[in-house]
Amino acid sequence: MLFVPIVLVQGQKNNMVPYHSPLGVPMQLSANFGEIRPNHFHMGIDLKTNGKEGIPIYSIADGFVSRVKISPFGYGKAIYIDHPDGRTSVYAHCSEIKGKLGALVREMQQLEQDFEIELFLTEGKVPVERGELIAYSGNTGNSSGPHLHFEIRETKTQTALNPLCHGIDIPDNKKPEITGLKIYSLTKDGYIVPGKSKSFPLQLKGSIYQPYNPEIRLPNDFISHNGGIGFSIQTFDQFSSSGNVCGIFTSTLTIDNKTFLTLKVDSISFDHSRYVNGFKDFLEYKFNHLKYTKLFKNDINPLPVYHSPNNGILKLTPGKKTKIEITCADIRKNQSNVAFDLAVENGKNQPKKDIFPSADYFLPDSAYHLKGKNATFQVSKGTFYEPCLKKYKLDGNVFFGEPSQPMQLPIVVKLFLPKSLKNKEKCYVSVLTNGSNEHALKSFIEGDWLVARSVYCGTFTIKEDRQAPVVRPLNFSLTNNLVSTKQLRWEIIEGETQLADYDIYVNGKWQLLEYESKGSYLEYKVDPKLRGPMEVKIIATDQCGNKVTWKEILSF
Ligand SMILES: [Zn+2]
Repeated sequence: MLFVPIVLVQGQKNNMVPYHSPLGVPMQLSANFGEIRPNHFHMGIDLKTNGKEGIPIYSIADGFVSRVKISPFGYGKAIYIDHPDGRTSVYAHCSEIKGKLGALVREMQQLEQDFEIELFLTEGKVPVERGELIAYSGNTGNSSGPHLHFEIRETKTQTALNPLCHGIDIPDNKKPEITGLKIYSLTKDGYIVPGKSKSFPLQLKGSIYQPYNPEIRLPNDFISHNGGIGFSIQTFDQFSSSGNVCGIFTSTLTIDNKTFLTLKVDSISFDHSRYVNGFKDFLEYKFNHLKYTKLFKNDINPLPVYHSPNNGILKLTPGKKTKIEITCADIRKNQSNVAFDLAVENGKNQPKKDIFPSADYFLPDSAYHLKGKNATFQVSKGTFYEPCLKKYKLDGNVFFGEPSQPMQLPIVVKLFLPKSLKNKEKCYVSVLTNGSNEHALKSFIEGDWLVARSVYCGTFTIKEDRQAPVVRPLNFSLTNNLVSTKQLRWEIIEGETQLADYDIYVNGKWQLLEYESKGSYLEYKVDPKLRGPMEVKIIATDQCGNKVTWKEILSF
């Protein structure tokens, strides 16, 4: 019997045809929308492909291909389809693109003599039908195993929508679990007062999660003089059909039985995705690998997921007991609750001191231009999520900020190029974030300065890359007859910066050479028509222009 995947649809208009399943196997989630990731939210859903590549991918509805991008990074081989309902569906990490689109991609790669291409297509160029096979699933780009990363976006704005609220239905009858609670002392602006937070492990009592002591008493000096407190929770959800740990959909904070804040992760724009660093408790994530979602925000946080007139900042009257309840729910409305009483002890009034004096702190709502003889740092307004200590040095050992400090926007770093440096065009700015984490930044020369943009704090130096990439055969030996070989692979190692270009020529003719960045190899799918000895030449160049040529006669 033929397996015809049909998706049940919620929330679609009656006259609309339900979305076809994007995948040729039953849909099982390994990650959901809005999950906390390093420096970004997960902007779609991850669908399992039975641990292998090559599962058919179908267009969920009629429409046309509006964009296709082939890259060794990010989404790998990705297809974007615009639909008449105003939405765009996205299919990422594909192994192979099929049909008319596949032919168009190969044609463009040949024309541009490049594996990495991006095409924006108008309506009529590549129309697709609902349920049409468009590609096979894979593991290309930044993917940690075979799966389909699937997104639904609003076409006009390209804002990512939660697919489970927009036509994709996956059964779920498991309740979210709430495993931790934190309380923070906040300034009136919603910034976390350094060193003033407390963690409370939770236990399930009947059907409600509670701290071990269900009456939390905070010392009077926990609260800043005109500030308040905020909460965060550690929570996760599982779907009925898969054991993977997914993120939560809504959280509601109730104070004395009145709704104080609702968090709903239903749409996120790509411009805001990095704001995950302000959404989560950054330090818990960075140092303890724990995902705490904050139920408060400050004014510079633009994420549209918070619904609260007061940013979730709770003012407490000392001595008065307050009833707190937090409800977490998934899309199918399975929910769990935390409940406890909270009181601040009576005591002396807090001293009225400025917690983040502008002389000592970089403030998120300010811009800075730090100029020295050997280095300058340009910091835009909105770079930081929280105030951070003004730590920097513009001479000698040049550094900026704390190595672990997250940044929303890159800072512009300029380092003076000493006259004595000979190969200026081979220089790049390197940033050392901690003990061993070094990042080579894309850099360019501007007069006497080497300029780069950095989303990392740390120690900045000028380095010179004089080493070409190294290329060596991976799955064949030079003496083999390669007549039945389907693909040839070469290991490629670029020690310092990044690979900028790579090409293969067979008897002088350009052929498609794919770069697999995770596995650090180049792959040539052998043309089955090749016969006899052929000159195979690979030329690879790094970002600083160091070039390697690998050339051999291979027999096919
Ligand atoms: Zn994904």
